[in-house]
Amino acid sequence: MYGSAPRRPRLLRKEKNNMNEKLILTDCDGVLLNWEYAFNIWMEGHGHMMVENGNFIYNVAKRYDLPREEGSKLVRFFNESAIQGFLPALRDAEHYVRLLANLGYKFHVITSMTKDINAQKLRTRNLKKLFGDDTFEKFIFLDTGEDKDGVLSEYEGTNHYWIEDKPTNAEVGLRFGLKSLVIEHAFNLHYEGDAPFVKNWKEIFETITGHEEKHTRWT
Ligand SMILES: [Mg+2]
Repeated sequence: MYGSAPRRPRLLRKEKNNMNEKLILTDCDGVLLNWEYAFNIWMEGHGHMMVENGNFIYNVAKRYDLPREEGSKLVRFFNESAIQGFLPALRDAEHYVRLLANLGYKFHVITSMTKDINAQKLRTRNLKKLFGDDTFEKFIFLDTGEDKDGVLSEYEGTNHYWIEDKPTNAEVGLRFGLKSLVIEHAFNLHYEGDAPFVKNWKEIFETITGHEEKHTRWT
């Protein structure tokens, strides 16, 4: 009685890979956006000064000499606030991300920012404003500081680039066969794992578009 809808031909694995060839997975804070800079100004505004050489410390409570719970609470509060609509781009990110987008690359953002919907909307709007409306294909928001293992496992074996500033997340990427790059900050210089460091988006751009041979540690 009802004619069955014509079946869409299944994509071969090779075709699928080709479709996704220009997909880049990226963290947001400390990679696309300068979270650290904005957070420090906000903390100073609330009377919290960074300890000497605090920029070498990842943990916020230690960085500002606060009780552990207080540090987490302030990060959560900051990440839920309207400031998320205005964080500046990190280093040269704006220029090179736009260049990659012009070459047809698409980005999936995977960020452990907050589950607060309004803050997510502000961040999405800010990212589109800085990096272009069509640059991002997907925004994946996890809770503040949440592990990314579950999300990254869905990309297992895709061989995509995965840009992070947190070494543990870069390591998770490697475990799932992703090409992890660690963007260098004072607080992650201690990292000695297998994901190569990059200093800025110029280096990421060069790595992705043609100088991949410089990094052999993935193979
Ligand atoms: Mg980050």
